[in-house]
Amino acid sequence: MLGVIVCSKCSTVQGADLKSAHVTCPRCGTRIEVKRAKVYFSTESPKELAEAVRQISEQMKYDIENPPEKPRKRIRVKKPKQKPEDEVSIKNALMKVQEKKGVLIKADIGKALQIKEDIELEEAISKMLLAGILCEVSTDEYKLVL
Ligand SMILES: [Zn+2]
Repeated sequence: MLGVIVCSKCSTVQGADLKSAHVTCPRCGTRIEVKRAKVYFSTESPKELAEAVRQISEQMKYDIENPPEKPRKRIRVKKPKQKPEDEVSIKNALMKVQEKKGVLIKADIGKALQIKEDIELEEAISKMLLAGILCEVSTDEYKLVL
């Protein structure tokens, strides 16, 4: 009788002759005691065995990649980083506003960056402050650092 067993150490799915006492894992070399191994599928047909190994491997891989006990994380799509030329054009846009008004307020920066959400805007502003692009002249009033 042939069967599908899984290596207890590295989880490699493999076909084995269930009559043999031990098999050696092809991936990690662990000696697997066939009698004690959990048999996922058994058959007399080597062809069926090969197919079962393939299917169970796929299932295992799925289980490892998607452990059911852990809540799935929401995948956050990263926004592409601003290209340097965008940074220059943002700076230029802010510069024009600053020349006209003397200072920049949050809304001006939001407009130049095309950010509508307040949290996102504040994050962007603090990044610009840290990067030395902006400085805060008074509460919610900023100037470009030249
Ligand atoms: Zn192994």
